[in-house]
Amino acid sequence: MREISPDSRAASGRGGAKRRLRISLDFLSPHGVAMLPAMNAPAPLPSAPLVDPFGRRVSYVRVSVTDRCDLRCVYCMSEDMNFLPKRDVLSLEELDRLCSAFVRLGTRKLRVTGGEPLARRGVMTLFRALSRHLAAGALEELTLTTNGSQLASYAAELADCGVERVNVSLDTRDPAKFRAVTRWGDFDKVMAGIEVARAAGLKVKLNAVALKGFNDEEAPALVAWAHGRGFDLTFIEVMPLGAVASERFDQFLPLTELRAALEERFTLTPSPYSSGGPARYFDVKETGGRLGFITPLTHNFCESCNRVRVACTGRLYLCLGHEDAADLRAPLRRSEADESLEATIRAAIQRKPKGHDFVIERAGSHASTARHMSVTGG
Ligand code: SAM
Ligand code: SF4
Repeated sequence: MREISPDSRAASGRGGAKRRLRISLDFLSPHGVAMLPAMNAPAPLPSAPLVDPFGRRVSYVRVSVTDRCDLRCVYCMSEDMNFLPKRDVLSLEELDRLCSAFVRLGTRKLRVTGGEPLARRGVMTLFRALSRHLAAGALEELTLTTNGSQLASYAAELADCGVERVNVSLDTRDPAKFRAVTRWGDFDKVMAGIEVARAAGLKVKLNAVALKGFNDEEAPALVAWAHGRGFDLTFIEVMPLGAVASERFDQFLPLTELRAALEERFTLTPSPYSSGGPARYFDVKETGGRLGFITPLTHNFCESCNRVRVACTGRLYLCLGHEDAADLRAPLRRSEADESLEATIRAAIQRKPKGHDFVIERAGSHASTARHMSVTGG
């Protein structure tokens, strides 16, 4: 291992803790998965940034590394999901090439997601490879969204790869309810994962999907607990993505309602803070913590959208609520050079729609898109 000095990141203008980044030069990740030569390629040179037809600069990419998951959250998946055959899913090398192309095209923030990203075999090899863009200052943030079930095993290595914060999904702190909402989840494992992440120096942000009749009553206690542990917490409105067992209408809890209920307990003041995503934040006077709301249904935030998503098949989705996508797997597999890949990305960005239009209503409630969140990557 060669250590890259923290100064190389400080020079890139990154604030926050300066951590020593270790770039593997020995083609073998600590988990014993062979690294592919392309992953050790030098950091890319930047080219003209991606700007969509509405003048929005696309600088944030969420990339799903697998559609598989060790849980089956009721709002995300059906119990008997059919997963993609392995050949349809991008290899780690292809994922690295794809992410690196986006970095060249001006992506400053990369979020690895899934499915459950930590369930992808060898995924740390990808994090290790992508950390070279942090070291070079080309990438501002490398992060992930996880259900936390395997975080205890990977937190230290993630931190070592330059990951500074993780989003952990946690809808309830009641172990029985946790098991019910995830169908298979082990609450204690997730708690252990969160603690190990914290001990490893990762900043933990919690995400909770607001579910009617499930976690609405618990919400104030969840806020108090999260803030007491120093974690930001963001509530998310359930979105009509993919078919699941229960009626979306029955799950849907408008965050306007939840916020009003929380304001009976807490004093919420709009915060100028932005994480670069769609959440609107409030400072909570009583806890001293920060509370976020992601409201794709009750308040459309598309005007400031700076992101695109890539599914684990290499399909580039320009908007979470639209089916239109560009196939990046074909140019990746057609040629070892990246010209065609970059041209395909540039052309696709010109098709980014103005916004989404999710609807959840009792009569005729249907999925806005056929694909589940686990396919597109949350
Ligand atoms: N498995 C990881 C996790 O659960 O954090 C990452 C992938 S998951 C698809 C990403 C986020 O999407 C999670 O916070 C999850 O709660 C959220 N999610 C899944 N399905 C959703 C839906 N239909 N509406 C709103 N959020 C959803
Ligand atoms: Fe898995 Fe995350 Fe979907 Fe839950 S929300 S089933 S943890 S991908």
